[in-house]
Amino acid sequence: YRAELGVRASGFDVPRPLKLFEHAGLTRELLATVKRRGYAAPTAIQAQALPVLLSGRDAIGIATTGSGKTAAYLLPFIVHAMDQPPLQKGDGPIGLVLAPTHELAEQVTMEARKFAKGDGLRAVGVWGGVGKYEQLKELKAGADIVVGTPGRLLELIRPKGGQPGLSLRRVTYVVLDEADRMFDMGFAPQIDRIVGNTRPDRQTMLFSATFPAAV
Ligand code: ADP
Ligand code: MG
Repeated sequence: YRAELGVRASGFDVPRPLKLFEHAGLTRELLATVKRRGYAAPTAIQAQALPVLLSGRDAIGIATTGSGKTAAYLLPFIVHAMDQPPLQKGDGPIGLVLAPTHELAEQVTMEARKFAKGDGLRAVGVWGGVGKYEQLKELKAGADIVVGTPGRLLELIRPKGGQPGLSLRRVTYVVLDEADRMFDMGFAPQIDRIVGNTRPDRQTMLFSATFPAAV
């Protein structure tokens, strides 16, 4: 089936790809959203990444633009978030998606909202050029999923002026999207600092269209 999909997988005991979204163990609401959006069957990257990510494994996913990488990590994100104790007042998010640009972060935020809604989860996007304090306020109202550019996220984690920033102490799901572009844009130091502030027992994923040495 991997050959048929054109999927290559390496790693220890990699779960087999799945053929149907019905086999992924999504929540009822999430499966309904997937169907309502007209996703008949998983794309190749989704077929392989879903069982890997849903089993809690770290992963690097490489697939061309337009191949459906966003849902490959967002669907397991929702399942992961639903398995965690609900957020308490003052808690930061359950997971983070880092993206290289405002445009991409905004697009992923909109996708995340569509998938999160049915299960009552909240997704918030943060990027530069928008008021930091408004963003901090929105985050503090409770966000299960935070999507952002590395620069702005770091500013929100450690705001100037000594006020408490965004807490990453509940973050157990970390996605680097368009990792190739993030490295090209020189975000590696910021990414290191952000990821270093999350829980060591987190699940970590990297998605990219290309796989250069830096990635
Ligand atoms: P990538 O991040 O790999 O470039 P996207 O995640 O942006 O790709 O997906 C590209 C398009 O394909 C989006 O419009 C998305 O809604 C759509 N899509 C994703 N998965 C499926 C699927 N299983 N079936 C049909 N369309 C899909
Ligand atoms: Mg993408």
